[in-house]
Amino acid sequence: AGAFLSVRDLHVRFKTEDGVVKAVDGLSFDLERGQTLGIVGESGSGKSVTNLTILGLHNPMFTEIDGEIVLEGQELITARESELEKLRGNKVAMIFQDPLTALSPYYTVGRQIAEPFMKHTGASRKTAWDRAVEMLGKVGIPRPKDRAKDYPHQFSGGMRQRAMIAMALVCDPDLLIADEPTTALDVTVQAQILDLLKDLQQEFGSAIIFITHDLGVIADMADDIMVMYAGGAVERGTVEEVLRSPQHPYTWGLLNSMPRIDSDLAAPLAPIPGAPPSLLNPPSGCRFHPRCTFRGEVGGTRCVDELPLLPPGRGGACHLTAEQKRTIFIEQIKPRL
Ligand code: SF4
Ligand code: MG
Repeated sequence: AGAFLSVRDLHVRFKTEDGVVKAVDGLSFDLERGQTLGIVGESGSGKSVTNLTILGLHNPMFTEIDGEIVLEGQELITARESELEKLRGNKVAMIFQDPLTALSPYYTVGRQIAEPFMKHTGASRKTAWDRAVEMLGKVGIPRPKDRAKDYPHQFSGGMRQRAMIAMALVCDPDLLIADEPTTALDVTVQAQILDLLKDLQQEFGSAIIFITHDLGVIADMADDIMVMYAGGAVERGTVEEVLRSPQHPYTWGLLNSMPRIDSDLAAPLAPIPGAPPSLLNPPSGCRFHPRCTFRGEVGGTRCVDELPLLPPGRGGACHLTAEQKRTIFIEQIKPRL
């Protein structure tokens, strides 16, 4: 039997006026039922595109997709729009960074949670409303009976995020895709929302794909982590593996730019120098080579000429030897973390 969700050699290309953008370039991963996968990367790494593709939310006119996305035996790339429509909000739900992209200003919060429930379960208006109130309670909205009658603008940012989570979970989805769901929130509210998601996952048993640029945010939430750079995965493993023995210079950079949670001092952030590459004209060889300070260790022009592949299991998509990765991490990176 295959995984709950299986993505194989996914390529997503956008045709733009300036040329073809390779937004996702040969990505493979599996997700098991009830597991949380954290996808980490900078903007433009392909992490959001991958997930919109899973939901079929791409514009077919300008998008070319190759590969396989199989959710519980159902192939999604070739699925009809009507089949995808049935999946969205029901089997697969999404929460976004900005709740206002999901919530309409014109309808009460309660109605917007009740509606997908009616649509996918055929419940009566009254039952669906009661369910909406129940869901608002579950996500920690006080006086949910009254607050269900409010409009989104009457909610604070954190409450809107909770309402959107209620809307996403109302049909008890098997897969929840959370795209930077806490990025716009202050640190305290962010921590509350993450706790809430963890609790709800226990209760609902959904698999979660959690997309973030911040490795720290999902360190205690995800089971597995996949690090993406320039449209491809450069490393994947369990949270413990990736945090304890990271295998790729880009992951080292992400770790190095993580705020120290165990320290009282305002930790200095050391962002990775340089900018993510253009996907219109990606760098040759290793996509990370223009920003990588360890190219010299590989020697020759291999980093510039040859695209390193991500091996199955552990190991990063990098030409450094396993021994080099181990010693560089232990001697140069770890002491600074
Ligand atoms: Fe750096 Fe070379 Fe490894 Fe790419 S392959 S991450 S350039 S050392
Ligand atoms: Mg994004």
